[in-house]
Amino acid sequence: MIDLHMHSTCSDGQDTPEKLVELAVASGIDVMALTDHDTINGIERACNAAEKLGIDFIPGIEIGSSGGKELHILGYGVSYKDKGLIDFYDENRVHRIARRDRFIELLNKAGVPVTIEDICRVNNGKSTGRPHIARTIVSMGYADSVDEAFKRYLQTPEFYSLDRPKPRFDKSIEMINNAGGIAVLAHPYTLKLDKYDFTILLKKLISAGLSGIECYYSRHTVEQTVYYRDIANEYGLIFTCGSDYHGLDVKPDILPGRGCNNSLLNAGVPEKEIIERLKDKIK
Ligand code: AMP
Ligand code: FE
Ligand code: FE
Ligand code: ZN
Repeated sequence: MIDLHMHSTCSDGQDTPEKLVELAVASGIDVMALTDHDTINGIERACNAAEKLGIDFIPGIEIGSSGGKELHILGYGVSYKDKGLIDFYDENRVHRIARRDRFIELLNKAGVPVTIEDICRVNNGKSTGRPHIARTIVSMGYADSVDEAFKRYLQTPEFYSLDRPKPRFDKSIEMINNAGGIAVLAHPYTLKLDKYDFTILLKKLISAGLSGIECYYSRHTVEQTVYYRDIANEYGLIFTCGSDYHGLDVKPDILPGRGCNNSLLNAGVPEKEIIERLKDKIK
C-alpha cells in the first residue's frame, strides 16, 4: 500500500512525524510521503523514523496557493534544507498568525468567545491552521464536529474575505522546483471547475512546471479518478495517490493508505507505476 499525502503536527495533523511513520507502518504502507502544509519542518524527523522502521519515505510539502479555489500544490523530493522553503515558511507564518487573529475577532463578534489561549490549549500549543480553530470551536460546544465548524464558520464568505495572502500557483511550483522537487496538483476536485475551465487552469499549471496530478484521492469519486487519470495521460503528466490523513479528530473518516470508507483500497491504485514514475522524476 502507498500513501503520498499525509499531515503531521508540524502543520495541522494530530500525530508527530515519528508517530505518523509508526502508524503508516502499522497500516501496512510500504511507501509514504509527509506533505505538511507550507512547511518542511517535519521531514528530517519523519525520515529518521522511516529509516529505523524500514519504510520507504518521500519528503514532501503541500503549498496552499492562489489562482483557484483550494488550489494546493504538492511538492515531492524537496530538500529539507532548502533555504527558499524555509524562508517561505517563516514569512507565511506571520500571515497565518495575523489571519488567526483577524479570525478570532470575527468569531467573537459572531458569539463564539474563542481566544488564542483556548486554541493553544486544545491543540497542544499549535494554533495557526483552520483545523486548529475548528477543533477549538468543537471543544467549546459551538459545533458538533470539525466538519460542521468548517461549514458554519471557516468556509464562509466572511472567512475567505479575511484569508491570508498565498503564493500564486506559479510561484509555489517554482519554489518546489528550486528545492529540488517536482510539483503535483493536489485533490483537483476541490477546485470545483467544470472540464473546460479545469483544462484552461491545467495548461497554465503545466506552463509553470507542473509534473503531475493527484488522481487517486480519498474523496474522489470513481468518475473523477478516471477523468483526472485520462487528462494526466493526455498531457503527459504523472499521477499520484494520497489519503490526506490528518488524524481522526480532524478528518474522522480518513485512514492512512485506505482513504475514506476504503475509497483508495477499492480504487485499484496502480501503485508500482505511480512509485516508479514518481521516483524517476525526483531522482
Ligand atoms: P488552512 O491551510 O489553515 O486554511 O486550512 C486548510 C486545512 O483545512 C486543510 O488541511 C484542509 O484539509 C482542512 N479542511 C478543509 N475543510 C475541512 C473539513 N470540512 N473538515 C476538516 N478539515 C478540513
Ligand atoms: Fe490540513
Ligand atoms: Fe490540501
Ligand atoms: Zn493535505
